[in-house]
Amino acid sequence: MSTRVTKEQIEAFVKSWLSYVESEKERTGLPIISDEKSGDPLFVDQRELRLRYLIPVKRISQFFEGLKRSEVLYTECRTCNVKYFPPQSDCSRCGSGSIEWKKVEGEGTLLTYTKISVKPTSFMHHDDYIVGIARMKEGFNVLAWVRAGDVSELKVGMPVKLEVERRQHDNYLTYVLVPAGS
Ligand SMILES: [Zn+2]
Repeated sequence: MSTRVTKEQIEAFVKSWLSYVESEKERTGLPIISDEKSGDPLFVDQRELRLRYLIPVKRISQFFEGLKRSEVLYTECRTCNVKYFPPQSDCSRCGSGSIEWKKVEGEGTLLTYTKISVKPTSFMHHDDYIVGIARMKEGFNVLAWVRAGDVSELKVGMPVKLEVERRQHDNYLTYVLVPAGS
């Protein structure tokens, strides 16, 4: 017999718990409930908790230094010459930790693109945006936002370049695909 709790069960529990908090708030005017065991009053924080993850990037910090210089960097294994983008500090093919940092020269071909209207929560504050995949001359694919006013300006097979920009609303440096010659 499995004791695993399903996502639906958790959601149902949270929902019933929240409606209990709401009914107590309605009844007493305060978001205070009783602890199930001790009966002690518990104040239910009315702010919703938001999580932010911290991702260790020390070993690929050169990538971010590159963005500050408006350069997009990739890594290449010195042993077996496999190229990585986004960059990796270790070669997952041969296991070597001897890698070289190189600059994406910026030319590529647009393989596919799509307009995103239904956005993930973390991108809700953005207008609709276009995401594309390009095959770069270096031989790897890059998935990134595409800078274009409308999808009608784009065509599969068109030349694109990779540029660094400070993303609006989020205010941090990132890379985008841009139609070449624009
Ligand atoms: Zn390798």
